[in-house]
Parts: sequence; C-alpha cells; structure tokens
Amino acid sequence: MTGIDSLKNVLWLECQKDYTDKAVIGGLDKYLHKQAEEIRRCLMQGLNEINMRELIPQLINSFDELNLANSNYGSYSADERKRWIRNICDWLDKLEKAKDGTLVPERTEDSLSSRHYKKRKEKGATAIVNARQQQGEGLDSPITVIRGITPSVANKFARLNVRTVQDLLYFFPRRYVDYSRRKPISELIEGEEQTIIGTIWQAKVATLGKRKGTEAIVGDETGNIRVVWFNQPYLAKSFQTNARIVISGTVSEFKRHKVFESPEWELLGDKELVHTGRLVPVYPLTQGLYPRQVRKWTKGAVDGYAWQLEDFLPSQIKTRCQLLDLSNAIAQIHYPDDQTLAERAKGRLAFDELFLLQLGVLARKRDWQESQPGNAFHIDQEVISRFLHCLPFTLTQAQERVLQEILTDLKQAKAMSRLLQGEVGSGKTVIATLALLIAAANGYQGALMAPTEVLAEQHYTNICSYLSQVSTQEHTLQLYPGQGSESGESSSAAPRIETARCYTGFLAQSLTIALLTGGLNNNIKVRLHDKIRQGEIDIVVGTHALIQKEVEFNKLGLAVIDEQHRFGVLQRSALRQKGFNPHVLVMTATPIPRTMALTLYGDLDLSAIDELPPGRQVVKTKWLEPQDREKAYSFLHRQVSNGRQAFIICPLIEESEVLELKAATTEFERLSKEVFIDLKLGLLHGQMSGSEKEAVMRHFRAGEIDILVSTSVVEVGIDVPKASVMMVEGAERFGLSQLHQFRGRVGRDKEQGYCLLMPEKLSTEARERLRLMENVHNGFVLAEKDLELRGPGEFFGTHQSGLPDLKLAKLTDLHSLELVRQEAITLFQSDPNLKKAEHQPLRQQLSRAWDRGAEWS
Ligand code: ADP
Ligand code: MG
Repeated sequence: MTGIDSLKNVLWLECQKDYTDKAVIGGLDKYLHKQAEEIRRCLMQGLNEINMRELIPQLINSFDELNLANSNYGSYSADERKRWIRNICDWLDKLEKAKDGTLVPERTEDSLSSRHYKKRKEKGATAIVNARQQQGEGLDSPITVIRGITPSVANKFARLNVRTVQDLLYFFPRRYVDYSRRKPISELIEGEEQTIIGTIWQAKVATLGKRKGTEAIVGDETGNIRVVWFNQPYLAKSFQTNARIVISGTVSEFKRHKVFESPEWELLGDKELVHTGRLVPVYPLTQGLYPRQVRKWTKGAVDGYAWQLEDFLPSQIKTRCQLLDLSNAIAQIHYPDDQTLAERAKGRLAFDELFLLQLGVLARKRDWQESQPGNAFHIDQEVISRFLHCLPFTLTQAQERVLQEILTDLKQAKAMSRLLQGEVGSGKTVIATLALLIAAANGYQGALMAPTEVLAEQHYTNICSYLSQVSTQEHTLQLYPGQGSESGESSSAAPRIETARCYTGFLAQSLTIALLTGGLNNNIKVRLHDKIRQGEIDIVVGTHALIQKEVEFNKLGLAVIDEQHRFGVLQRSALRQKGFNPHVLVMTATPIPRTMALTLYGDLDLSAIDELPPGRQVVKTKWLEPQDREKAYSFLHRQVSNGRQAFIICPLIEESEVLELKAATTEFERLSKEVFIDLKLGLLHGQMSGSEKEAVMRHFRAGEIDILVSTSVVEVGIDVPKASVMMVEGAERFGLSQLHQFRGRVGRDKEQGYCLLMPEKLSTEARERLRLMENVHNGFVLAEKDLELRGPGEFFGTHQSGLPDLKLAKLTDLHSLELVRQEAITLFQSDPNLKKAEHQPLRQQLSRAWDRGAEWS
C-alpha cells in the first residue's frame, strides 16, 4: 500500500471513530510525523500521472501547507479536528481529480457570456452599451467587469499578463479542438474526436471504479450511448431527463460497448455553443485556471466588448491585403466559424503585429535622420595606422571591411546607426576601440555600454590596454585607483580602477578613460558624473549606469552598445539621447538572418565580421550519453590538475527560476560533496544580486575557483582565459545559439577548449541538434538552424526586450515580412508623421504598442 492510500485509510478510520484520535495506535500526530516524508515521496511519484502540468506546483504547495510533518491534531477540539481532516480530504480529492484530468470546477449556468453576440445586438445592445459606458466599462476596464471573474481569478490572469478586457481579447488560443463534425451515434468510431447531439434518457450518480461519478445514457434517432464523467457526481444534478445535450470527445470502448469518458458537454439551449460542437479554443493556462471557465470568460469578453475595438488599419490597406476587420478577427480567432476563418483572423492579427513593429522602427529612423544633423568626424589616417601598427596582430579582412564601413559613416554629417554582428571572439572590441579613439581625436566623448558589470570591466581593461600600447618613448599608463579608499571603503578589496589616464601617443593629448557601473560608491559616482559633464573624461565604459538621468555628457559623439540583444531599443535610444545626435554602433554576438534583421532593426545599417582571426582553435564539442558522465567528470578533473578551469551549466528550467535555482544549488552541493571533493567549486545563479554575481565571477577569473557551477546566466561575453571546459547539463533544452555562446566562453587562449554536451533525454530531434553543435562552428549558420528548428519566440527568448509583442506573427515568414514592410513604407511615404486625420487611430495604436514594449525586463 502506498503512503497516500494508507493516509486515506487512516483518515477514513478516524472519521469513523468520530475524531477521537483512535485510528492509529499512538495517535494521528505520531503517525503523520513518521509518514509525512513517505507521503510526499509518494505524491512526487504520482505527479507523473498528471497531464496538466500547471496543476503540479499548486498541488505540491497546498500539500506543504497542510504541514503534516508538524501536525498538532492531538491538541485540537473536535470541531477543529473535523475541519482539519476535511482539509486533507479536499486535497486528496484534488489530487485524484488532477490525475484523472477532471479537475474542473462546477459550472455556473447563468452567464452573460453565453448570450450570443448577434443576439445581443438584436436585443437592444445599445441600451446595454450605454449603461456600460456610463459605468465606465470599456476595453481598459479590469477583467473583473466580466461576469464570473473574481479578483482572485483576476490575479491568476495577471500572471499571464492579462489585466484588462483588451488584454483578454488579445489572449489568444494556442490551438483548437475540432468538435465541429457531428455524427449520428450509430456511426461513432472508436478513438476519434467526435460530437453528438442527443437527448438525455437518464443521468445518475454512479460508482465508477472506486469513486463516485456521473453516468448518463444519451440517445439520438440512430442509437444510444453511455457517457461517464469520473469524479464529478455533482454533474448528475444538471442533467434533466429529456434535456438536449451536446457531447464532444473521444469515444472509447469498454467491455465491447462504446462509451464517452469525461467528454466536454453542453446543454443545448438557445445559446451559442462554446465548449462543444464547433472549433473549440484551447488557451494557454496557468495554475488555478480551468479550460471550461477560461472559455466562458473569453466568450464573455468577445460577445460583450469585441465590437468596441477600433479598427486602426487604414481601409485601403485592409482591402489591398484582404484583411478581416479587427472586431471580426478577434471574434473569429477565439471562436472561429471554421478553419479558414481561424486562419484569416490569425493573418489579420499577425499583420497588425508586424505592421506596428515596422512602423515603429521606421519612425525611429525618421526621427534620427530628420532631427539635427550628425557630427562629421575628420578621419586622421595617421592616427589609425599608428593604432593598427601597435596592435599585436593584423586585422582580418572582415575587420578591415567593417572598419571601412564604420569610417565612411563617421565622416558623414548624418549620424551613424549601425549594427555590427560578429561571432564571439571575432574581434569587435578592437574595432569599437578604434572608433572611440577617432571620436576622441575629434574632441568628442565616447561611451561604451555593456550589459553586465563584469563585461564592462573587461571592456574597460581591454580598451585601456589597447590605447596605452604606444611606440613613443613617453608612454605611461597612469592609473589612479582606489579613489574609494579616500572615503575609507574597499581599500582591502582588489583595487577597482575607475579612471585611467593614457598618454597614448596616438594623439597629441592624453586620454582619460573611466568605468562607470551601478556598483560604485556614491561619492565616486557623483564625482564621475561631474567629470563626464565637464568633459574631463574622454571615454566612458559602463553598464546601465550610463543611461541614468544623472549622467550628462559634455559632448557625446559616439555611443557603442555591446551585446545589443541584451538591451531593448529604449535603452539604445536613451544612450543616443545623451548626446547631440551621436553616432551609434551596436554590436552583437547573436547574429540573426538578414531579412529578420531588416524587420527588427530596420533602423540600423548592417555590418558583419564573418571571419575569425587566424589560428583560432575550434572548441572541440561532443555530446555524451548519460552513462558517460563519470568519464566527463574525470576529464574535468584532469583539466583542472593541468591548471585549467571549467564551467558546468545546469539545465534550463523555463517554468520557474526558483526551481532552476533549487536544481543548481542541489547540483552544486552534490558535485562539491561527492564528485569534486578536492576542488574549489563556485555557484552562480540568476537570483543573486548583481554584486554577488560579480564577486563570484571575479573569484573565478582570479583562479580562486576551479569549477563554476552555473545556471544559464553565464551566457554572454565573459572572458576567462584559463577556462577550457564547458560542460552543459540538459543540453537539449538550450537553443543552438545559446549553446554556441556557452561554448564561446572556453578556449579563449592558445589551449584547446572543450565543450561537453550532456543531454537528459534524447529525442531524434535533440540528437540532430546536438550533432549540429559537434560539426558546425559558425554562429550564423547555427542561428539560422535554430530559427528553423525552434521558431523566433524561443530564439529570442526574453532578450528581445523593448519591442512590441509578437504573439502570432512569424519572423520566419518572409512573404508576410516583405508585404508588411512594403505597406509600411508606402504609408510612410504618403504621411511620414501620421498627421492625416484617417491615420489618428493608427498613430495611437502605434504609441500604445511601443509603450508596452517599454516594460523591458
Ligand atoms: P568579440 O568582442 O568579437 O567577442 P574581442 O574583440 O573580444 O571579440 O576579441 C577576442 C580576442 O581576439 C581578443 O583577445 C583580441 O585581442 C583578439 N583579436 C581581435 N582581432 C584579432 C585579429 N585580427 N587577430 C588576432 N587576434 C585578434
Ligand atoms: Mg565581446
């Protein structure tokens, strides 16, 4: 007998004994304290049987809330005991239902939602509308205005980012179940999704297996069929004899008779079908929201409010592109009349998404180009060749080409706006440094923004060292560290250098370079702000701290943004606005295909460094079978004893950062205690504060940590030269581009780098992807493959912040992309500032869409 069965028996017995605590010898508490663990284990095993995975956390939490291991039953009054046991029974009941997939709440009959849209209109919808509007019930009202949505339900919706009626209208189904084909009962086929309409001959509470449920006999002119609902005895009450009912579901066979088991059902009244007999929408759910309810509510929203949506698309565009009206598209995407209309609805809404995206991007480009002219830099060839001469290497052809593209831009009186894509290690930083040097040579300030402190620090060090490499005699690199120590702080920590003065020899004057990060002591920050404002600093390297409003430049001429996919467009333009229309160079190591780049970064010109410096070794990549783990560990061991370092990445758990953290911590402890007992391990995860993360990375870089166990936060740009092994657990869960980024963390110097991919489950598809990782070492190719295999949503993940949501549009659908781009350009030519009266709704929608994007992560 399992722990849970035993618990049930004990509770049952306890009820029988009138809550006298006589069910088990020694008392219930003692029993529970001993068994709680076992019961929980048993629960964990049982969870596999639950299909609706979003229920799982809820079940576990509510179990933990029962707190059986610390029960205090003995001290309760009879009433309290009764209530307490009932709580546990309720929970057990929920568990059962969850396993059967029947955890559905009771149905409420009366609902506004069930009234049909058209009928509503006929029945004097205007009166209702007026009443509504007087009460201020519009699209922006909270969803609680919809009948049946309580504040607690609204909270659950909030987790899905659905707060207003408009949000609910834009909460799209993931797919539909086709219950539209009605069959006569005699023609039902086992194993297929079908719908019947019949009369209820009889309905009663019945014992099904061991538990109570509802059993009904339903018939039509061709025959009868048994229909059962497990665990829902309360349904029997709703089913009056002779009522007409629609049943949709899969037919199975039981003892050679056909039967519907827990099908969708709906009584046939004078209202439109929502759950049966049609294409039934399937929504993405969160814990505590049940399909039947959600359908009822979206139907309520569609019927009550969809007509209020203002169609912002100009009608010529709708005609030209044969698009549905907005209200109609919204109604059809939720409750389509047929598959074709579902597709057309999706087409219209996807068009909107891309169109707004494209218009926004074009508007930004217009704004920059039409605002003030940019600053034309004088390009001093002498400075450039001196700089290049001092480098310990020569530029690759790709670097040369990109450099020329950038120089050409910088010479123009129009601000540069360029995206530089290039593999990890392709040498973007040198190019950026040279551009910053040119800016300084022209008497302008330059800024470089990186997504993390560690990266900013790294850039700062590199730029200082590039710029201080001089061939003249007088070269000095005067660093004045520890301004923090004046105020008595951080003197014991490793010296943090905030500003450096380089007598570069490239220029007549010396250069002052500064590092500005959020973690700086406030005094220093204020002083740096001052110096930046007065133009005493020539080049500032920093994090988000650069775009805080306190930061004002004296004369910003060039802004460089590294790892652009980590920043939203808003941060990009925030930095841009720090200057007087400065030149902007954004860099990324996560390349994207050109067509998509045109849509997403249509405001930028594109450059690519598509070649690695010569002699750059390829990181040897191998995927392993689970049984090879020991071998992998001893490999890591050997590498560490040869003075190398390693990363171990823990599996990605997308649903929950908390679970991810738990998994990483457990893995870290296991590895420290059982596998690498003699080595120094470190742990890095996303829930750490910025400074905690920085500290760990600093220790790792300093070699004080041999193996860094980390969640996926280690992804971008970190440079730890001695790291030679990257081991990725649960490798199949990551995208190819992400794996490629991980792998770029090792083999950064002469020594061979290794990447070990450790999958958890190997589907054929996963095998194929991991094999690509072994053989393909070109980030562009991998990015294309990634897009093909996983689609853009996954590809961009949450990184693509600042852009309007793309829920339906596919960035891989080149045909649509081109169509939309063309329409956007045409519109822009006729009315560049959207000033015309007929474009006002569009203009509003545009700022709304881009505003929402502003909630960047
Ligand atoms: P990215 O920022 O594109 O990832 P970096 O600019 O950090 O790449 O360059 C990676 C490493 O390669 C640095 O150590 C840099 O000094 C070196 N490097 C850059 N360009 C060249 C080149 N043309 N030949 C040899 N080494 C180079
Ligand atoms: Mg870089």
